Amino acid sequence: MAVMITDECIVCDACATECPVAAILDEKNEKNPQDYKYYVKPEACVECVGHSDSPRCAEACPTEGAIVWDMPYITEYESYFLDGQESGKYSIRVHNKKGLMLPSIKEQPYNELIVMNQRQSHENVTTF
Ligand code: SF4
Ligand code: SF4
Repeated sequence: MAVMITDECIVCDACATECPVAAILDEKNEKNPQDYKYYVKPEACVECVGHSDSPRCAEACPTEGAIVWDMPYITEYESYFLDGQESGKYSIRVHNKKGLMLPSIKEQPYNELIVMNQRQSHENVTTF
């Protein structure tokens, strides 16, 4: 990750098609661990680094507070994402050969302008 989608999501479908890496699943997708809101796959989200100055999903989202910052998908936060996987917060992809695609298997880019306390407090993603 990344960004994450909160319970404020109104299931409007404005975000998914905007994602350059197809990291957003709708509420009906069987890989979505939460069946009442959209979901961002943390192992796939690149925070739009290399694609756009701001997260495109947040630019498209009409709902304040529906898309917030989460921790970077890097090895330093391996246990954070593993805990989230075990609690059902995340549903990280299981690769046939590599197994669970945790950050130690594949890290993702993240926006270094976003400081850690913005991420830890899941601050609203504002576009810039
Ligand atoms: S921040 Fe960018 S890469 Fe991540 S889910 Fe949103 S649109 Fe996709
Ligand atoms: S655009 Fe925002 S409110 Fe609409 S589905 Fe995506 S996260 Fe939910």
